[in-house]
Amino acid sequence: MSDPIKTDVLIIGAGPIGLFAVFELGLLDMKAHLVDILDKAGGQCAELYPEKPIYDIPAIPKISAQGLVEALMEQIKPFNPVFHLGEMVQTIERIGDPKFRVRTDNGKVFEAKVVVIAAGGGSFQPKRPPIPGIEAYESKSVHYAVRKMDTFRGKRVLIVGGGDSALDWTLNLAPIASHLTLLHRRDQFRAAPDSVNKMMALVNEKKIDFVLGQVTGLEGEGGQIAAANVKRNDGSACQIACDALLPFFGLTMKLGPVADWGLQLHEELIPVETAAFETSERGIFAIGDINSYPGKLKLILSGFHEAALMAQKAHRTVYPDKKLTFQYTTSSTSLQKKLGVA
Ligand SMILES: Cc1cc2nc3c(=O)[nH]c(=O)nc-3n(C[C@H](O)[C@H](O)[C@H](O)COP(=O)(O)OP(=O)(O)OC[C@H]3O[C@@H](n4cnc5c(N)ncnc54)[C@H](O)[C@@H]3O)c2cc1C
Repeated sequence: MSDPIKTDVLIIGAGPIGLFAVFELGLLDMKAHLVDILDKAGGQCAELYPEKPIYDIPAIPKISAQGLVEALMEQIKPFNPVFHLGEMVQTIERIGDPKFRVRTDNGKVFEAKVVVIAAGGGSFQPKRPPIPGIEAYESKSVHYAVRKMDTFRGKRVLIVGGGDSALDWTLNLAPIASHLTLLHRRDQFRAAPDSVNKMMALVNEKKIDFVLGQVTGLEGEGGQIAAANVKRNDGSACQIACDALLPFFGLTMKLGPVADWGLQLHEELIPVETAAFETSERGIFAIGDINSYPGKLKLILSGFHEAALMAQKAHRTVYPDKKLTFQYTTSSTSLQKKLGVA
């Protein structure tokens, strides 16, 4: 077991509500680490609708979803939150009162006095392409994310897809793979035009191959892929020899491991009380889209409110002997010092 990372609060989910929780906790002197399965902060805002304008954030008449994420990142900067991106929280175990041990799928271990579940609609998980028998190769030679580029050094890599992830990884892995093929079913891409142009330039320079078609089957043994059978768009078939297959077919939201944390669930949501949004387990809070209570609205503004109340109760758990005095950021020099403005 790796050495546990100790923190006051471990926030599961770096969506808008997890991010704002850092601010409310920070004002009350609680240090937070955040874990998110995505490789970036922002949850649904960043992953599902970054360019869409949002019109119902109080006092901000219009802001793009990505703009909101950037503003939140700026607002929480004074509290130096630590992000652990590209990792999924798998287990939560109570090891004290209050103390929790939290583990990720990447082997990271945290010890926190308080756990805040801000897991939204659940974890974003890669969509599995409809290739017969692909499960047998997963995490051995079929990968849905690139955790370490070096894993692919000197290997024959086949990337499938036409979105930003497929194009970005084509550009990043082309220099280190021994051979790289990009396979897509159309000659239209849902990726930044600049990435498409760079990819086409690599094809023209014969540094990578681009094939129009779809994978119909895999060849290999013991989880190690040797080749992909491909049906080209013109109807002909071919085999592409490869050591690694990276399909990028987008993400879907699934409740994921939240269901296994021993918490009471109601219709895949976590019921909470509405004074502090604590769950059935003392010291574990649930805020944002993941919680349920009478009258709940899955809105960003509701989650912000929940984060503020959660922090008040979390303070009593983290600092049982300290009295908490209610203060405004406008008039409290102590809060302003924490924000670096006084
Ligand atoms: C198209 C669209 C438009 C919308 N428009 C509006 C709008 O105009 N106004 C508004 O108020 N709301 C809007 N919403 C809703 C809003 O986006 C959500 O209410 C908000 O994102 C909830 O934030 P959250 O932080 O609770 O969850 P999310 O944004 O879902 O973030 C949760 C994060 O937790 C991570 N996670 C989950 N499980 C784990 C795990 N086990 N380990 C690690 N990480 C995990 C996920 O990867 C995710 O990044 C819209 C939603 C959509 C889809």
